[in-house]
Amino acid sequence: MNFDLTDEQRQIRETVAAFAEHELKPHSTAWDKDEYFPREVVEKLGALGFLGVAFPEQYGGGGADTLSQVLVVEGLSRYDASVGLACAAHMSLGSGHIAKFASDRQKAKYLPDLIKAKKLAAWCLTEPGSGSDAAALRTAATREGDNYVINGNKLFITNGNVAEVLVVMARTDPAKGHDGISAFIVERDTPGLTNGRKIEKLGMRASDTAEVIFDNLKVPAENLIGQAGQGFRPQTVSILESGRIGIAGFAAGIARGAMEDSVAYARERKQFGKPIADFQAIQWMLADMATRIDASWVLTCRAAQLRDQGKPFGREAAMAKLFASETAMAATVKAVQIHGGYGYVTDFPVERYMRDAKISEIGEGTSEILRMIIAKSLLHDGYTPA
Ligand SMILES: Cc1cc2nc3c(=O)[nH]c(=O)nc-3n(C[C@H](O)[C@H](O)[C@H](O)COP(=O)(O)OP(=O)(O)OC[C@H]3O[C@@H](n4cnc5c(N)ncnc54)[C@H](O)[C@@H]3O)c2cc1C
Repeated sequence: MNFDLTDEQRQIRETVAAFAEHELKPHSTAWDKDEYFPREVVEKLGALGFLGVAFPEQYGGGGADTLSQVLVVEGLSRYDASVGLACAAHMSLGSGHIAKFASDRQKAKYLPDLIKAKKLAAWCLTEPGSGSDAAALRTAATREGDNYVINGNKLFITNGNVAEVLVVMARTDPAKGHDGISAFIVERDTPGLTNGRKIEKLGMRASDTAEVIFDNLKVPAENLIGQAGQGFRPQTVSILESGRIGIAGFAAGIARGAMEDSVAYARERKQFGKPIADFQAIQWMLADMATRIDASWVLTCRAAQLRDQGKPFGREAAMAKLFASETAMAATVKAVQIHGGYGYVTDFPVERYMRDAKISEIGEGTSEILRMIIAKSLLHDGYTPA
């Protein structure tokens, strides 16, 4: 496998880095403190073409590959994981679901504005009573003439207060379990759509996370994505598999930030008359961080390549997300340690990185669920060396 970036990918990496350094880095601490979602920045990213990089050219996208989109998420998350997550949810989940499974008419109606971030997308799967066991969802969509009537609550939805276009998984046939779930496109201004209480979070404080409530919301039957009963299998399963590659990149970006900041700090900070970088204890922490970050990136590239080659990639995406998220958590904890007392206070961003990293071990499959997926695939299909 070749993990060299193409010229186009390298250019994406460089332009995203420049954007993040100028447009995110100076503001991220304040946005986090104020719990301010910088929508104008996401809109700018859309207008500049970053958010459509891997979407079809016929709808205004860049037609690039999976890794190009991951590079966008990684580069943004390096300085601001909240913006990285907002963009990942917009691209991989909401817009990605429409790009992969919607009809040509639906794509033509929604994708151009989503690609340019004139409208934002949210993806509504989780409910108060169903997270890891997502297929146990209870939100109901009942057919009434030319409409479906949706009732239920979704929880922890990224962009859920701000998105104009929501992809909603709801049960259309209570008797059919996994195969009784369907996906719908719901527009923000539809009567019956409201948001619940404000959700305060440990990290990701500049990303919008919402409860979304459907109260006798009528959605035209033409907003059904694909066929009734396909919302979970194949649609949700496929979107989560792809989304995990993006979350691996998100986690790798946070981890890289923790390492780069730690290297810079270790060179500067003096104790016992020398830079703390001279102490082997600090060097080993940095070495472990860098090694794990590289391994995360290689796993992420492998999953992205398999996806683009049209090969199965579910196990590899789960491995990438599992390893990258646990690396992000470990690296950010070490970054705080390397910064000592300064790591614990908000003068330096590493405490934010540590708070932000935690979500990568929870969203789009917890580490426990990912280990189950990997083990199940291993026991079913056997192990083939990479
Ligand atoms: C900031 C944020 C953003 C999010 N964004 C979105 C979004 O945009 N859209 C969306 O639909 N959802 C979103 N989520 C929801 C997220 O995907 C879920 O929180 C996640 O899937 C876990 O579900 P849960 O919270 O119900 O935890 P639970 O499923 O209740 O898990 C609790 C614990 O039990 C463990 N567990 C559960 N089942 C098993 C098992 N079978 N074996 C072993 N251990 C198990 C879990 O690993 C975990 O440790 C978001 C969540 C957060 C916090």
